[in-house]
Amino acid sequence: MDDLSLYHPSCPTDGVLLREVGAGWECPECGRFESAMSGPLPPEFDGPGIHGG
Ligand SMILES: [Zn+2]
Repeated sequence: MDDLSLYHPSCPTDGVLLREVGAGWECPECGRFESAMSGPLPPEFDGPGIHGG
């Protein structure tokens, strides 16, 4: 089961798992900050179906 709560990005610089901070993710190694609101988001809805059929 895919769960967005299990989404845990890693640092593109050193590959270290980012730690969750207030508004995104932060690398404990180099301090790189990744906003949780930026970047390519996976498609949550792949077609009509939210309102049922
Ligand atoms: Zn890093």
